[in-house]
Amino acid sequence: MVSTQPGLPPELEALKNAIRQIVREECVPLETEFLTHPPKDGEPNEGAPRGILEAVPGILGTLPPEQWARLHQVSKETGIYTSFVPEEYGGGGMGALGHVVLEEEIQKSILHLPTSPVPMFMIGACTPEQEEKYLYPAINGDLYYAFGQTEPQAGSDPGGMMQTRAVKDGDDWVINGTKMFISGAASADYLLVQAVTDAEKRQRGGITMFVIDNPTPGMTFEPIYVWTMPTKAQQNMVHLDNVRVPQTQVLGEVGYGFTLGQQWLVHHDRLLRGSMALGILSRALDMAIDWAKQRVTYGRPIADRQAIQWMLTDVYTDIMALRALTRETAEKADAGEDVRVEASMVKYCAGEWGWRSIDKIMQVFGGIGETVDLPIPHWYHMLRHARIGGGTSEIHKFVMARALLDGRVNYHG
Ligand SMILES: Cc1cc2nc3c(=O)[nH]c(=O)nc-3n(C[C@H](O)[C@H](O)[C@H](O)COP(=O)(O)OP(=O)(O)OC[C@H]3O[C@@H](n4cnc5c(N)ncnc54)[C@H](O)[C@@H]3O)c2cc1C
Repeated sequence: MVSTQPGLPPELEALKNAIRQIVREECVPLETEFLTHPPKDGEPNEGAPRGILEAVPGILGTLPPEQWARLHQVSKETGIYTSFVPEEYGGGGMGALGHVVLEEEIQKSILHLPTSPVPMFMIGACTPEQEEKYLYPAINGDLYYAFGQTEPQAGSDPGGMMQTRAVKDGDDWVINGTKMFISGAASADYLLVQAVTDAEKRQRGGITMFVIDNPTPGMTFEPIYVWTMPTKAQQNMVHLDNVRVPQTQVLGEVGYGFTLGQQWLVHHDRLLRGSMALGILSRALDMAIDWAKQRVTYGRPIADRQAIQWMLTDVYTDIMALRALTRETAEKADAGEDVRVEASMVKYCAGEWGWRSIDKIMQVFGGIGETVDLPIPHWYHMLRHARIGGGTSEIHKFVMARALLDGRVNYHG
């Protein structure tokens, strides 16, 4: 078999193959049942992952609780569940390269093998009490979170435009404001909410991260329906009306909650979106090749037509280029390099190339590509959303352009 990409270290190659087999044997066979039972508002999806995992990129179906339990059990028994958590916190200690490889394999099924819902930026930022109350239960999957940064007036420029305020009152903080589009907020056990604590400093020492239990008096939710899931609101408006939390609910240092959030977004929302697009596109390309070989028009399989071959090769090219970029960026992150600009490039390419490639896959399938009991239209939704969620393509180009014009990047090789 032709490969134009350098191999992984032997232990990661073995891990990749093991996860690939688990996904193929445990997740793929359940896809049809999962997709033909879409979730409805108010109806339980007992046993499914909750919080942000439920909503980004989207739980698109339901399964009987015993099947969710089986998937959790497989993930936990194999160590996949916490493989990316540092060893000192009971995980596998896998670095960024391992994490992107793992995530790519998980994304090869529309039914994702569950993994720990721990927001990684909590590791190292929690007090010992917060570790007991939030961090360890999150690592084990007993507590689910939502991440609250975006607001009605603050999406692409959260640092500059954030209106939510937290004011000190004795030993407490009183928080007022509205967050918007917060994934999985209503069902989460706790919200990680950013609020301005010093209006002069804002993102440079004036935004703080609070852990707010759900429910807390003064915090209410309003559903937002998006086109990817019109039958179940997975995003929420979160109204914070004199929400009072003690000082012990501040995560990390006062004033440095924006920095914490950004560090996490580089990894979670940018680098791992490369893996998401890779997993989806490589499985979709397998399916499209099989389809093209057996679909006959005018006496020949459509795979014989150059129009179809060129769409398949365009997807192949996007996959190979994106994988090289994603893995190289992960390797740099593991070496301790600042990868903010490269992670923006991964996110930008995952969204733009992922979207154009899944569009070609859908075209190869023709009408059958639009039917919702196949994963293709759901993948289309997910990759279209990837151009907006986690920072839009334009904002990631803006990040890259600043670095380029400041002479901070090397493109000569
Ligand atoms: C399904 C979904 C889930 C989400 N989940 C969460 C979540 O869990 N937590 C959370 O905090 N947020 C979440 N978000 C919010 C998401 O991160 C924002 O929608 C995104 O960052 C874009 O912000 P905006 O919608 O305000 O767009 P805007 O900032 O209003 O941008 C509008 C348009 O203008 C462009 N634009 C803006 N500024 C510039 C510029 N300087 N130069 C060029 N073009 C520009 C943008 O690229 C875009 O095309 C979610 C959103 C969706 C839709």
